[in-house]
Amino acid sequence: MSATLRPRPVPGLGCNAYGKEEEELVLDVLRRKEPFRYYGLNPQSPPPMVATLEKEMCAFIGTDYALAVSSGTAALEVAYAAIGLGPGDEVIVPAWSWVSCVTAIMRVGARPVFCEIDDTLNIDPAEIDRLITPNTKAVSVIHYQGVASPMDEIVHAAHRKGLFVVEDCAQSLGATYRGRQIGSWGDVAIFSFQYNKTATCGEGGMVVTRDQRIYERAVRLHDLGNYRPFHAAIVTPREPAFAGGQFRMSELAAAVALAQLRKIPAIKAHCRAVQARVLAKIAGLEGIGVRRVPDPEGDFGFEPYLLFADPAKVAPFQEKLNARNVNCGARTGSYGQYNREYVKTGQVHHPALSPFKDFKEWPAPGYRAVDFPKTEALTSRWMALPIGWLYTMEDADYIADAIVAVHAEVFG
Ligand SMILES: *Cc1c(COP(=O)(O)O)cnc(C)c1O
Repeated sequence: MSATLRPRPVPGLGCNAYGKEEEELVLDVLRRKEPFRYYGLNPQSPPPMVATLEKEMCAFIGTDYALAVSSGTAALEVAYAAIGLGPGDEVIVPAWSWVSCVTAIMRVGARPVFCEIDDTLNIDPAEIDRLITPNTKAVSVIHYQGVASPMDEIVHAAHRKGLFVVEDCAQSLGATYRGRQIGSWGDVAIFSFQYNKTATCGEGGMVVTRDQRIYERAVRLHDLGNYRPFHAAIVTPREPAFAGGQFRMSELAAAVALAQLRKIPAIKAHCRAVQARVLAKIAGLEGIGVRRVPDPEGDFGFEPYLLFADPAKVAPFQEKLNARNVNCGARTGSYGQYNREYVKTGQVHHPALSPFKDFKEWPAPGYRAVDFPKTEALTSRWMALPIGWLYTMEDADYIADAIVAVHAEVFG
């Protein structure tokens, strides 16, 4: 190793872009003393932050209705309940996904049916036809780490079979497919504003839809069954009241999320520029490919993936790259769901509610690592290269040079 060691760049997206915009909006909430979204001191003018966030989210995504909630997980639970899922229903969901992609399905009493990913690291669209049963009600599309799934193909395949398409955009606010924002394609979509996401207020989420009934049900589910005048002015209620949870967003969270949403185009442009610089310099290295991106124009660009032909090369490559202060990793927050504790036990908080209770043997086929050879093989071959808001073009050059040098060492 000859080149001087460059300090490790600081990873992270929206959080590192915090500035006076976030400060001003938060201070505005504090100075007005109005932290609650539905009313404050002045009955003539209800607090603006959550309402403005929802409005700008609709405009940004290109959808009709947006509902802010307390987290991405809350958004998923609300979305599944809003489309009416419950015991006996099945949802096709990528085995390679975040915890709540599956627990949200289990918590409404429905059964997650795991599917394989393909070399996009998102759902393999062919899995819909393979896994559909008379009980299948929905397919969950997870736009993994900034890359959109081919939504035209998926929506077509799902709608032809009468399935709802639920878009989980938690990791990828700002990614587009064929010029349209993700979240605008499915029947309902969710976003997250948790710390690790492209835009963040610490904790927060959003449900978006074009469907008036789904919107009304989501509102009731997130606000104790209420449907307040604020929402009635947007969509006239038609559903009878029913019991809901409490997953509202506060004005303080919305103030930060709003400032962050406005920065998404800048954050995306920056990540794309850094990523393009790295990928151009390392193109064509023998034995290393990259994740297939269905629409490269819409990639957020915050986490390119190197796919190794030989899985045995991943660990030494990663070790040497890390020693050169390049952030890289084989794993992110996602894991094969079949390896998670709640799938291994098949339990929810009450046995009668477990969607797996009718299986005689557990884990049943479809819930074991051996049932996902494609996903297992793919996830053993890749290495992630996170890119952040604070990465510079000099970092990009250094990362690319380090990859070329390590390649010579490991493959040489
Ligand atoms: C982060 C994440 C969620 C959940 O969002 P939280 O705000 O953390 O609850 C859901 N789905 C995916 C794919 C995620 O990455």
